[in-house]
Amino acid sequence: MDLQALLDDLAAESALFAAQGRVADYIPALAAVDPARFGIALATMEGRLLGSGDWQAPFSIQSVSKAFSLALVLARDGEALWRRVGREPSGNPFNSLVQLEYEKGIPRNPFINAGALVLVDRLLSLAGDALGTLRAFLREESGNPEVDVDGEVAASEAAHGHRNAALAHFMASCGNLENPVEVVLDHYFRQCALAMSCADLARAALFLANHGLRADGSRLLTRSESKRINAVMLTCGTYDAAGDFAYRVGLPGKSGVGGGILAVLPERGVLCVWSPALDAHGNSIAGVEALDRFTTRTGWSVF
Ligand code: GLN
Repeated sequence: MDLQALLDDLAAESALFAAQGRVADYIPALAAVDPARFGIALATMEGRLLGSGDWQAPFSIQSVSKAFSLALVLARDGEALWRRVGREPSGNPFNSLVQLEYEKGIPRNPFINAGALVLVDRLLSLAGDALGTLRAFLREESGNPEVDVDGEVAASEAAHGHRNAALAHFMASCGNLENPVEVVLDHYFRQCALAMSCADLARAALFLANHGLRADGSRLLTRSESKRINAVMLTCGTYDAAGDFAYRVGLPGKSGVGGGILAVLPERGVLCVWSPALDAHGNSIAGVEALDRFTTRTGWSVF
């Protein structure tokens, strides 16, 4: 199979779909991104790295970061994490407040914002500097020492982060945060504002396709933990559209409102696609479409 030709075709076909979506504007710094950008990268287990379009351009990874923070927390905390956060699809928007109150401050899963705030809180308790730990990991796994926070995006998100602040304060009122709300929010906003390319992200996530083994051959996760993260990505990684994503793409995936989506091809590699125009659930329209076409044409899904 000519994978390069396939990625080039997917990039060429993307424009039509991007035009149907809208760039996230509730974080003002993200609204300035050109909706016509499109990149796709494939990192394979054999060490190949292919891409098309803007696959080497850094973008705001936003909630794609949550797949990595789950891995870092699970590696340190094991099953204890699940006392503080669930692992069921939310069926509600990623920033919903109402479900959190019904469920007494225990977020439905680690990928909605409330759950990701719990991950940041745990990583602060376990590792000290949550953002620094995550950034160091992403630099090592991607092989790109330049991976860093976009300060403008982080400041913009902090200035408009009332919903995330509400979620964090509510969880604190339920006793489900160990660190001060302001510290948790600061690390969370900077984590979401990390800028990486499709190439960086695809390479950085290879451990999820490789049963938990890192780029240097050391083990981050047991086979079972790696399986569990992939399972939570499949069922919760694209929020209240996770069922549709599984139906169309058939891979564990994690999206972000910067327009990036990471998809794991177990034992084969990792795909990352970027197109900033989003659907109503906050997932990249052209990104989901490209992943749908990729698995349809290659047959490389988990089903
Ligand atoms: N930083 C964003 C927020 O907290 C992340 C949301 C997302 O990417 N789905 O709203």
